Amino acid sequence: MENRDGSVKGLIFNIQRYSIHDGPGIRTNVFLKGCPLRCKWCCNPESQSPKAEQMQDAEGNPGTVGREVTVGEVMEEIVKDDRYYYRSGGGVTLTGGECLFQPDFSCALLQACRDHQLNTAIETTAFASLEVIRRFIPLVDCWMMDIKHMDPQKHKEWCGQSNEVILDNARYLSEHHPCVILRVPVIPGVNDTPEEIGAIAAFANSLGKGVRALHLLPYHRLGEDKYRRLGRTYALRDIEPLLPEQMIPLRDAAAKYSLPVQIGG
Ligand code: SF4
Repeated sequence: MENRDGSVKGLIFNIQRYSIHDGPGIRTNVFLKGCPLRCKWCCNPESQSPKAEQMQDAEGNPGTVGREVTVGEVMEEIVKDDRYYYRSGGGVTLTGGECLFQPDFSCALLQACRDHQLNTAIETTAFASLEVIRRFIPLVDCWMMDIKHMDPQKHKEWCGQSNEVILDNARYLSEHHPCVILRVPVIPGVNDTPEEIGAIAAFANSLGKGVRALHLLPYHRLGEDKYRRLGRTYALRDIEPLLPEQMIPLRDAAAKYSLPVQIGG
């Protein structure tokens, strides 16, 4: 049973209203701080540390990213858009960062959304213990879960952790939850061959009936400037995004199986 008094605290770095890309309908995205992975292409590097940190704003002024909030305070923001959720079939998406990394706060917030009859979704790597995964399952309507590479060594090299836990949790989720969207960030030089995308598609199609679709998300550089503002170096500065036509053979490699495949989320 999750805490329902609204007092559970968590660390977030943004609340984004009127999103239409991260689940059904019009949504509010809550961005949590803290992630156990370190993907070199991460477009939200300010999400990775589990602590508040110094980060310049877009004009170069000093500032801090990360603030402690209670579930009740976040819900006050969320309910401002009630009429849009109900009309559009939207709701709330927890993203980050990794919401599984703050399970008490995330589960209490998801429970509050449920109590408010809002659709709930999470964007996750599913890099967590099975105990944590089980706790989230009854609170989430849609899991949007990343699969970045099938090779454990390459996964560790590019993301800082091996992929065994992630793949095990994908297997479990696919058998125990009715709505799992698998998403693949397609990164040049990392996984942008038909063989690598085909291997992920073969795995996705081997999973249980809860997996609904496979989305291929083309690499972009929108987060590059944030590294400078954090005083960090962007590791992929020499990598260019793929052209739209370069995504086609990758989509075709993934579409050889029965699972629906699309480019973009
Ligand atoms: S899992 Fe997501 S939030 Fe975490 S480092 Fe990778 S891209 Fe960034």
